[in-house]
Amino acid sequence: MTVLERLDAPGGRAYVNRQHGFTFDSGPTMVTAPFLLKELWDIGGRKLEDDVQLLPISPFYRIRFDDGESFDACGDPETMRARVARLSAGDVTGYERFMGASEAIFRIGFERLGHVPFDSWTDMVRIVPDMIKLASHRTVYDLVATYVKDPRLRIALSLHPLLIGGNPFTTTSIYCLIAFLERRWGVHFVMGGIGRLVQGLVRLIHDQGGLVHCGEEVSAITVTGRTATGARLACGHELHADIVVSNVDSAWTYRYLLPREVRRRWTDQRIERACYSMSLFVWYFGTNRRYPDVAHHTMVLGPRYRELLADIFERKVLAGDFSLYLHRPTATDASLAPEGCDAFYVLSPVPHLGSGLDWSRIAEAYRRAVAQRLQETVLPDLDAHVVTSSVMTPQDFQDRLRSFRGAAFGLAPVLSQSAWFRPHNRSEDVERLYLVGAGTHPGAGLPGVLSSARVLDTVVPHARALA
Ligand SMILES: Cc1cc2nc3c(=O)[nH]c(=O)nc-3n(C[C@H](O)[C@H](O)[C@H](O)COP(=O)(O)OP(=O)(O)OC[C@H]3O[C@@H](n4cnc5c(N)ncnc54)[C@H](O)[C@@H]3O)c2cc1C
Repeated sequence: MTVLERLDAPGGRAYVNRQHGFTFDSGPTMVTAPFLLKELWDIGGRKLEDDVQLLPISPFYRIRFDDGESFDACGDPETMRARVARLSAGDVTGYERFMGASEAIFRIGFERLGHVPFDSWTDMVRIVPDMIKLASHRTVYDLVATYVKDPRLRIALSLHPLLIGGNPFTTTSIYCLIAFLERRWGVHFVMGGIGRLVQGLVRLIHDQGGLVHCGEEVSAITVTGRTATGARLACGHELHADIVVSNVDSAWTYRYLLPREVRRRWTDQRIERACYSMSLFVWYFGTNRRYPDVAHHTMVLGPRYRELLADIFERKVLAGDFSLYLHRPTATDASLAPEGCDAFYVLSPVPHLGSGLDWSRIAEAYRRAVAQRLQETVLPDLDAHVVTSSVMTPQDFQDRLRSFRGAAFGLAPVLSQSAWFRPHNRSEDVERLYLVGAGTHPGAGLPGVLSSARVLDTVVPHARALA
């Protein structure tokens, strides 16, 4: 097995930036469903804990509402009931019922359907009764709103799709399963940063006799007739392969790596018409002081919820208000910054490049506005303490990670783009081509991507059978 990666180091969204003594995880920070990682390591013949130390985080995250009130999410049902009661005493029973519904959705949506290949229509037809039972035609927000009334609680229980690029007002309610997933298995941090997980994965590949080549861009997947035969690299070399697995964003794979004439299903038109997740503006910064009152994960919400999301997902305009996610890994692991300092990243959901925004012109002004918001809310005097800074914009998601329209999470997790309707793990258009990762079934986020790898394992024929 040969893995070809265009960047100078492995990781993709989980790439690690090192600047002025600070270590910044560029993407994923919350590890949920750790059992999937354990399973992967078991399959690879190693012990997860020999490579990676996962530390449970409490609170899972702090939500700071615009009125200054905070809500800490954690895994203890009793503590959660008390916190819900503090926000809205009348919603405790509804909250309990919602958690019951979340578990029921998890049992079907994750345990039963998360690992089905959805290769054929019959796979889809078979799950229709389950989809009806789970009311998956409803959106996450709608389902939450049937259980609780308090507007802040509705936000707290419905914002999970944003973690995988979806709008809670359009994302299928199947994603309500995340609430139970978090409660049951917790939210974890990889000590030393997500790079440790990436290094562990590379070790697993090496142990299987595989190779990882960084700095190698695939410019095309070569095809003879309708069968994949290998990859052409940007340097001009060609590699022959019995099978090709593309982990590149699925829309990008079809649109730019495969010739138009072999694509019957994933035509240019279908790719253009599809609905893409939001993008992100991410600011990585280090401070020469610590902010000990700031939790490891904090959502700093703005005055608007539904309307802000409509700006991002539907109107595709850049709003003047923000809902931010602030990561402070040094709350858990001081080794990620020089002594007495804090490492941070803050991300702001923004429209994908369908907005027409020119980020090379607006990035610095937007960064300053985000900094101002943080300074007014949770990081007083921030301006005076920033000692290192860099940003990632939607343009970088497109140019660096090759994500169609710079969408940070690939195709949006709406019902019409889920399961059979998502690009299949066994390509519908090209023989011996397989897809894996956020743009395939079941979708984005580390648990989704690991599940897609599990599905892949059931559809890829053993390499020897192809020889
Ligand atoms: C800022 C951010 C925060 C997130 N936080 C979380 C979180 O806390 N928890 C969570 O579970 N999920 C989180 N996610 C989501 C999660 O990180 C992603 O869904 C997941 O990492 C996607 O993995 P992937 O393998 O599909 O894509 P990628 O990691 O992007 O992998 C695709 C790889 O293909 C390479 N590539 C592209 N084109 C080519 C080419 N032509 N030739 C060679 N190589 C190529 C890219 O460089 C990249 O390395 C976050 C995502 C982002 C962006």
